Formats: sequence, structure tokens, C-alpha cells
Amino acid sequence: MVKKANYLALKSITDANNVKLAAVSKTHDVKTIKQVYDLGQRIFAENKAQELSEKQPELPNDIEWHFVGHLQRNKVKYIAPFVNLIHSFDSFKLVKEIDKEAAKNNRVINGLLQIHISQDESKYGFSYEQAKEFLDTKALWDLNNIRISGLMGIATLTEDKSLIRKEFQELKAFYDELKVNYFQEASHFKEVSMGMTSDYDIAMEEGSTIIRVGSYIFGERNYG
Ligand SMILES: *Cc1c(COP(=O)(O)O)cnc(C)c1O
Repeated sequence: MVKKANYLALKSITDANNVKLAAVSKTHDVKTIKQVYDLGQRIFAENKAQELSEKQPELPNDIEWHFVGHLQRNKVKYIAPFVNLIHSFDSFKLVKEIDKEAAKNNRVINGLLQIHISQDESKYGFSYEQAKEFLDTKALWDLNNIRISGLMGIATLTEDKSLIRKEFQELKAFYDELKVNYFQEASHFKEVSMGMTSDYDIAMEEGSTIIRVGSYIFGERNYG
């Protein structure tokens, strides 16, 4: 069930702070998504390419669609025609495939480098070192149909707020370092995607430009 009061409060906080709010609508049906759209929300995020490609035509076309979570290379084609921002650039092979599919659609697709900032086990996301190696890959800069617009990270799932804050501070510091060393002239390199239902307030204090919030807006997800 849509939590209207939560949504409206969060929307006014993000608007006042010039932070983008991506409403993470994964597992929710188009009718539910439309209810949040009707409250004024225009950025939605999904984590399954096929599911997203089925929902997109059923919903208003002024929605900005974001993709979060690991994207398999063979699924890129489903979202390449319309996706606005992929939060999970996590390998050169994937980024090459996104570039190829974007070119087929005469588009440039924006993405964020996903950085593994948490202590939780995860196969996905670059370490800080790997991210620099990725950016030092010469062939990356020949890709004309992708654009790296910033970084994304997921903090450790913990009650320890000081650990979460430290992880967000490090990600923001790394963003500042890359901005100087790789993207000085690139005005599009401007996003730090961090913060979810449990930690968006800390993330905003530490310089987040996009928060990705699901359950606070839509209620608990039912994976039945
Ligand atoms: C599901 C998901 C979110 C939203 O999580 P909530 O805790 O429901 O706000 C944010 N980011 C990513 C990458 C997700 O997969």
C-alpha cells in the first residue's frame, strides 16, 4: 500500500535540498506505481530488465526510468530504448554492451559506476582501486554512446550509523577525487547515488544527489 504521507514528506525534503528522489518500484504493479505518479513523482527505479520493459509502455511517458542492481549483459537490449540512468555500471564488458545497444537506438545512455562500499558480501561493484583501473582503460573513452555521470554505493546493512556515515563520506570523497582527476571538464559527472529507506537521511547529510527509496514509499515488498 502506498504510504502517501511518507512520500509527500520525503518529496518536500528532497526538493528543498535539491536532491533527486528515485522511487524504487520493483515488485510493485503498474497500478500502484501510477498512484505514486499521481502524487507528482516522475523518477522510478526497477531492478529487473524484463519487468521494467513490460511496465514502461503501460505508464506515462514522462517518467524517467532508472535501473538499479546488477544488469546482465543479455538483458541490456530490453531497456536500452528508453532507460535514463543505469546506477550499476560494474564491468567494462557490461558497459561495452550498453554502448552497443545505445548506438542501435541512436541514444546516449547515462550510468553511474557502482562502488562496493559496504562490508557486506557482494559480487558486484568496483572496489575503489578497480574503479580507477576501469577509468584508466583506454578503450572506455572511445565509447560514444555511454556517459559516466557519477557514482553509486550501497552502505552496510547495520544499526551502526557511524559505519554507514563513514562509508558515505568515503564514497563522496572518492567522487571528488575522480571529478578532479578524470572529469574536470565533464559537467555531466555530477551524481552521487547513495541512501535508501534505512539511511537516506545520513546519505543526504553526506552529499548524496540521488536517493533510491522503495519501502518507505511503497510499503514492504512482497516477493511471494
Ligand atoms: C531495492 C533497492 C533500493 C530500495 O530499497 P528500500 O530499502 O526499499 O528503500 C535501493 N537501491 C537498490 C540498489 C535496491 O536494489
